[in-house]
Amino acid sequence: MPTLPLPSELELVQPTPPELSPADAERIARDAFGLRATARALGSHQDRNFFLDRGEEPPVLLKIANPGTTSAELEAQSAAAARIAERAPGLRTPRSLADPESGGDGATVREIEAGGQRLGARVLEFLDGGTLSGGGHLSPAVVRGIGELAARVDLALADFDAPGVERPHQWDLRRAPAVLDALLPYVGDAALRERVSAAAREAWAVVERLAPELPVQAVHGDLTDDNVVWSDPLTRRPDGVIDLGDLNRGWTVGELAITLSSLLHHDGVDRRAALRAATSYHGLRPLSRAEAEALWPLVVLRAAVLVASGHHVVATDPGNGYAAENLGHELAILEAATAVPLAVQTALVLAATGHEPETLALPSHGPLLGGIRPEEFAHVELGTTSPALHGGRWLEPDAEAAAARAALAAGAAVAATRFGEARLTRSTPFAQEAPANVALGVELALAHPVELLAPWPGIVTAGEDGLELRGDGLVLRLDGAEASALVSAAAPGAGAHVDRSAAIGRAETQLAVRVHRDGDATPPWFAPAAEAAGWLALVADPSPLLAGAERASDSAGDTALPAGTRDARELITRREAVFAEVQEYYFEEPPAIVRGWRELLVDADGRVYLDALNNVTSIGHAHPRLVEAVTEQWQLLNTNSRFNYPAVVDYAERLASLVPDPLDTVFLVNSGSEAVDLALRLARAATGRRDILAVREAYHGWTDLSDAVSTSVADNPGALASRPDWVHTVDAPNPFRGRHRGAEASRYAGEAVAEVERLADAGTPPGAFIAETYYGNAGGIALPDGYLAAVYEAVRRHGGVAVADEVQVGYGRLGEWFWGFEQQGVVPDVVAVAKAIGNGHPLGAVITTKEIAAAYRSQGYFFSSAGGSPVSSVVGSTVLDVIREEGLQQNAREVGGYFRERLAELGERHPLVGAVHGSGFYLGLEFVRDRESFEPATEETAAICERLLELGVIVQPTGDHQNVLKIKPPMCLGREGVDAFVAAVDRVLTTGW
Ligand code: PMP
Repeated sequence: MPTLPLPSELELVQPTPPELSPADAERIARDAFGLRATARALGSHQDRNFFLDRGEEPPVLLKIANPGTTSAELEAQSAAAARIAERAPGLRTPRSLADPESGGDGATVREIEAGGQRLGARVLEFLDGGTLSGGGHLSPAVVRGIGELAARVDLALADFDAPGVERPHQWDLRRAPAVLDALLPYVGDAALRERVSAAAREAWAVVERLAPELPVQAVHGDLTDDNVVWSDPLTRRPDGVIDLGDLNRGWTVGELAITLSSLLHHDGVDRRAALRAATSYHGLRPLSRAEAEALWPLVVLRAAVLVASGHHVVATDPGNGYAAENLGHELAILEAATAVPLAVQTALVLAATGHEPETLALPSHGPLLGGIRPEEFAHVELGTTSPALHGGRWLEPDAEAAAARAALAAGAAVAATRFGEARLTRSTPFAQEAPANVALGVELALAHPVELLAPWPGIVTAGEDGLELRGDGLVLRLDGAEASALVSAAAPGAGAHVDRSAAIGRAETQLAVRVHRDGDATPPWFAPAAEAAGWLALVADPSPLLAGAERASDSAGDTALPAGTRDARELITRREAVFAEVQEYYFEEPPAIVRGWRELLVDADGRVYLDALNNVTSIGHAHPRLVEAVTEQWQLLNTNSRFNYPAVVDYAERLASLVPDPLDTVFLVNSGSEAVDLALRLARAATGRRDILAVREAYHGWTDLSDAVSTSVADNPGALASRPDWVHTVDAPNPFRGRHRGAEASRYAGEAVAEVERLADAGTPPGAFIAETYYGNAGGIALPDGYLAAVYEAVRRHGGVAVADEVQVGYGRLGEWFWGFEQQGVVPDVVAVAKAIGNGHPLGAVITTKEIAAAYRSQGYFFSSAGGSPVSSVVGSTVLDVIREEGLQQNAREVGGYFRERLAELGERHPLVGAVHGSGFYLGLEFVRDRESFEPATEETAAICERLLELGVIVQPTGDHQNVLKIKPPMCLGREGVDAFVAAVDRVLTTGW
């Protein structure tokens, strides 16, 4: 297609309107539009904009256009806004008020005289809310929202036309080459200039080929982060579009390219994240294949024009601070847009818009390795679930070589890694970015030297790294290969012409094999999982060249690499089909978690997350000692506790030794709910009473009895209204946000004691009082001093029993204290414990006195089939061994103390942090909208958790307002993990969520 001509130099530099004061604006509003208003100047690049406050009437905007814009163009903008309002209901856009002297013909522009110039003035509706300007983060929902908005605008304007719509314009991507010719000379830095120019040339070559198939229509022309508005500050999901000043005819897909490019300088919005906008756009206005193929080249062209135009403005208008400041953004957009080859990104666009991406295929070929039989071939498994990487071996520097050695030692002649595998050995703990870990080639370890044959005819050259075979439009790279006599005999630099199956070289101990498109730069060895599928446009799987190496990604099909992200979505779909809806899951787009190690979790793509959530995994994920002990016990025996075996006795003795006198008797069950349930049944049996007193906002379990005393509205919004009449509650003694705060919090105890007295007077004294001994469910808040002592005393005075729920907070996590009740200086009558004691294995226990335990006789007898089984008992004892021998309680105290300090520092910089709660490794970071009113930042906390997941940190909200990050990591967490957590939260609080 011939490129459209260059706009004249005059149009590149828009003339600016004269300076106007608010008083001038008020006068124009009155004289030209009959409006009485107070004016306030608003910034604008080209025009003069004033906010007009009209008292009772809704405010409006007075817009005085630059002298380069014709009335016809301004009328076209007014008409386009009216068309969007009509065709896209619910999408806000500022319509123009009719010119009072227009006589009803719909004209909106009034020509005025100012500073000796004739200017077009209009009055527009004022849209309140904010834009997405700046470099802050945009959530996936916001990115999807802006894509939808672009689609709705394009659909609304699809058949729009008006006399002023067609105009030569530097932002019309159809003119990009001419615009760049004019503007690029202003880029002073020659290297940058050449980079921009080369990227634009390559992009234009694609666009030019596709141009005849790209629809053209009236487009907004600048539908960017700066020109969309939201009305809900919590979601910031755009629901309006402003500034139609660049309205023009152009490629419809160019509109989306402009939108996408404006996302790329936002923190944490990478190319993959930006493609969400393309997917959502496509959902409303499907992109043809040609449009999808043109999209990224147009993004690159837009980025090139932005950079060039930015330099042009700075050069011609040195005082323009706004333009100077923007240069950084514009460069960031260009860098992001060109970070991978166009073909790779286009393949990702095609996949994101439901089009089949093109993939590179091998030609017809013979074997590469001479004399290797399929049975001599073995794979080296380095993926996320590889047994070779158990026990944390994936973190060892020579893990890959060790796995290859093991394969050779087992008798293989060739041990090969897998193409397209997301290698765990290339994953990095504590990183905010996903690793580049998907292999785009295959590495071989050889037991003996192997002859290399040309799989297809071509020209072989020997270089520093090894051999290259070029033929059929492909390059086969053989790093580590030595040239054969045939190849060595070729003239230097010319290469040897070889036939299929010619002997081209030899590999001694190692060989790295890659196939890629000829003419491209050598692709990287590894790509991030989210981009790996895109590389299949340039890179082919060399496995078929290797004897016995079946395709690596059997389950992934031919093109989808790797399978992790897809698996995660598919899993959720299957889960939703088979699970009840009430069984919720963490996160909107949960990764498929396939491995754990210490305080780390790994997903199917090999992304490593810091696990700040799993208090159940007290000693860390996949602890080798536990794995070994359990494996051993399973091989020996697993049965029930009516048999006589040592493990259960050993474990019960050890549990009993952990609690003070007179607690000495142990029941073993399978969960916290069961432990609480049994504890309450024991109390009822021992006292002969039915009534139970509990603390509000608590969670104690899901069984009938443990649920009856659970009143956390976060877990069950109707909890308080649906309690049985024998459940009585007292205020949650929250000294931070309860009824009594700070020093006043001592009043909670008196009120709870009064409630005990009231129940006793009413003839229903509580048989049990149950409470968490440290307020876990609210985010780790210590109970007021003396609280449990006072309430236990009152309950016991009236014949009741004190039940401590230590399911979350007990077992060393608090650092300073092994049990929460120690912090309160009390000894309960019954202790319920679970979670941490089994490190994730189903295990719960109740520890009480002989006397209370004996009362259970009145209920029959006690038996739990798997409770205290040999395997469970071995788990319990091993967990205790590890806690003691690895000093995990002490670690919780020291590293937890450091953690708390670092969280407190965050509070000094970020007003959203309302408080830091907790002790040891039971910490709560509470988010509030206002430090005076403590208004909980509920939606913010949920969004922050979603963004933290993207940054490799797993944490969830807790508390009745779901505004506290519950921080309860495995107790092996070290300072590096704390620093990673704090850095990620700091980034989110700084750049948004
Ligand atoms: N008590 C408390 C304080 C808990 O936090 C929980 C679980 N969240 C339970 C009891 C119930 O434990 P489980 O899930 O093992 O049944």
